[in-house]
Amino acid sequence: MKFVGAHVSASGGVDNAPLNAMAIGAKAFALFTKNQRQWVAKPLEAKTIDAFKANLEKSGILPKHVLPHDSYLINLGHPEAEKLEKSRAAFIDELERCHQLGLEKLNFHPGSHLVKIAKKDPQYDDKLMEAELHCLDVIADSMNIAIEATKESNVKLVIENTAGQGSNLGYKFEHLGYIIDKIEDKSRVGICLDTCHTFVAGYDLRTREAYDETMDAFERIVGSKYLMGMHLNDSKPKLGSRVDRHASLGQGEIGWDAFRFIMNDSRMDDIPLILETIDESIWAEEIKALYALVEE
Ligand SMILES: [Zn+2]
Ligand SMILES: [Zn+2]
Repeated sequence: MKFVGAHVSASGGVDNAPLNAMAIGAKAFALFTKNQRQWVAKPLEAKTIDAFKANLEKSGILPKHVLPHDSYLINLGHPEAEKLEKSRAAFIDELERCHQLGLEKLNFHPGSHLVKIAKKDPQYDDKLMEAELHCLDVIADSMNIAIEATKESNVKLVIENTAGQGSNLGYKFEHLGYIIDKIEDKSRVGICLDTCHTFVAGYDLRTREAYDETMDAFERIVGSKYLMGMHLNDSKPKLGSRVDRHASLGQGEIGWDAFRFIMNDSRMDDIPLILETIDESIWAEEIKALYALVEE
């Protein structure tokens, strides 16, 4: 069975998010548990936590079908010690907030190396590879530290694949596999595949053949047992463009077929499938359209 929803607003309090999900007929949702553009947030109040849990129950959505997203400011691969420290502390705080809300997963972008290498540098490829590998090691260290610091809460760290804009890592399945390999407690780690990011990173999804090839590569390099969520977005930019611009379903370069393959792929059963498409006024329609793709 499929659990489709959207990244809904939590403005006015996180307890509003389940109600916003309900209003669009969602069976899953994503949210920010704090303002995503600020480093610090005041701790969640007991009454907010209680209201969130009550509203979640009212919505009929299960905690495993909620996929909170962390702040955009956090970079677990930051090259500067002070900023890395700040990111790690903020990330641990986010994991704890999820736990307080009774949730099981936290979705995040792995990190960016921020190293500037001139394209005309004769050693460009070597230097880039070195910067990427070092950053992946730092990200894995950050995750191991966070897992150790939140043993009690047991929230899973769900790495999102990225578009590969700028120096963002996680655009190759190999990056995801490399990080998971270095995680000591693998029961605490998962992957969220974003269809737009996957596509602009160069993995085609548009035909049966291309979809199977992409998912086989994911299976081989990462393993579908780690798949714990998806972001369903069409893409404005072209295949392999490494530019992150979401589009409404069927209105971008990917097209409806890819979403039909997903809605009929048992690897996507029982995990949150989250719209981050650009026109939230049609989310309810998009959810209905996705369910209509399920073949008996
Ligand atoms: Zn996403
Ligand atoms: Zn994106």
